[in-house]
Amino acid sequence: MVRAEAVHKSFGPVEVLKGIDLDVRQGEVFCLIGPSGSGKSTFLRCINHLEKINAGRLYVDGELVGYRQRGEKLHELKDSEVALRRRDIGMVFQRFNLFPHKTALENIIEAPTQVKGVPKAAAREQARALLERVGLADKADSYPAQLSGGQQQRVAIARALAMEPKLMLFDEPTSALDPELVGDVLDVMRDLAESGMTMIVVTHEMGFAREVGDSLVFMDGGVVVESGHPREVLTTPRHERTRAFLSKVL
Ligand code: ATP
Ligand code: MG
Repeated sequence: MVRAEAVHKSFGPVEVLKGIDLDVRQGEVFCLIGPSGSGKSTFLRCINHLEKINAGRLYVDGELVGYRQRGEKLHELKDSEVALRRRDIGMVFQRFNLFPHKTALENIIEAPTQVKGVPKAAAREQARALLERVGLADKADSYPAQLSGGQQQRVAIARALAMEPKLMLFDEPTSALDPELVGDVLDVMRDLAESGMTMIVVTHEMGFAREVGDSLVFMDGGVVVESGHPREVLTTPRHERTRAFLSKVL
């Protein structure tokens, strides 16, 4: 579903991604861990067309990110084509980014109605089903400020799902939450994983990675240091840098 081949990304003179190679299979929960500044968010942003890579190749669902291939030739995508590709990718951030002046339900129906042209009645019905799925059936008419951080984050997940994405990217979705609210969000993500969604999850929740993850990658300094099955990497890391990192977070 996602394939990175020697992906490089620099901001001016600073090289942040120094040749990332990885493969995310369809239906997989792919966890990404690593110290602050190692390039995890940048990598997710590249997948989601929010940053352009400088070298290497990045594929989502078999298509080269940022380009359209015609025979041998690559054509850079127009903005409208990028927008079309981005519809298939849901993203959930550390901060919830809900529209503050819209209710939970209105937040969820915004993209389907505005971007996809789904009729409002159908979008509302779908939104209610999604709210039910994330355990917030009774919060349809609440505004973000009336919801806890964990509830807001579950609305954000529902909002991303409303576009029926092929791939979900999570960038530390629980890091900004009070500890007692983390579990509900992780439960929603676990359900989503069980439904077969392909997910790339940047997280410090090693319990989630161990129980739900199919693969785990440890990134440091813009490279993949170590990857494998989460249980393997977490219990018997092969590299000193991985061990040092895990000793701080576990
Ligand atoms: P964290 O765990 O703190 O979220 P991260 O692994 O997600 O860290 P990134 O946010 O990808 O790290 O940042 C990697 C490096 O790239 C950092 O040194 C950061 O300062 C730099 N960086 C990220 N975005 C930009 C930008 N738009 N312009 C310049 N530098 C940037
Ligand atoms: Mg980050």
